[in-house]
Amino acid sequence: MVHVRLEELEKYAEINNIPIMQKDGIEFLVNYIQENNIKNILEIGSAIGYSAIKMALVSDDIKVTTIERDKERFDIAVENINNFNLQNRIKIINEDALNIELLDKYDLIFIDAAKSQYIKFFEKFDKNLNNNGVIVSDNLSFHGLVEDETKTNNRNTKQLVRKIRKYIDYLKENKNYKTIFYKLGDGVAISIKL
Ligand code: SAH
Ligand code: MG
Repeated sequence: MVHVRLEELEKYAEINNIPIMQKDGIEFLVNYIQENNIKNILEIGSAIGYSAIKMALVSDDIKVTTIERDKERFDIAVENINNFNLQNRIKIINEDALNIELLDKYDLIFIDAAKSQYIKFFEKFDKNLNNNGVIVSDNLSFHGLVEDETKTNNRNTKQLVRKIRKYIDYLKENKNYKTIFYKLGDGVAISIKL
């Protein structure tokens, strides 16, 4: 049953051009959550709730807080979360993540929102991370453009690619974290708090 409905979300995302995590990327993330016994998760960028639902389904005692600024996507995510009967374990907030203050601490923070603002998200939510917590970042390859920007002529896209490269350098140079980059999905990094 559940499988059918997850497939429906994947299909909906594809038809409506909603950039949910790619298959091998999300599989990698849920495995990481399972193997490392992660229980409290913060996600920046819910879209339609797909990755939040996938993460919550890893285990009954996992709690996810997820933030989505777009009202239309937020409404769809709420509906999807309710359909999976996960409203008690997934808390979704309709806000710009840069405008809210959270007091709770999390084992894992998943950054998957506006690519131009990753450094800001990282610095803002660093204080919400538990000791030994990790920050996961998605889309560091950006359709392969980060490795080869000649694949696009679009100025805005080129600008975004430059920002993602800057973020990658920021992660590499950050002495408080050890970051491992994975060539999975659209490029995933795991930054472990030292
Ligand atoms: N994590 C989702 C996909 C998220 S797509 C999944 O894999 O299923 C990125 C989402 O981030 C978009 O829906 C966009 O509206 C949202 N977003 C972008 N910037 C944001 C911000 N500053 N605060 C909250 N949400 C943001
Ligand atoms: Mg993504």
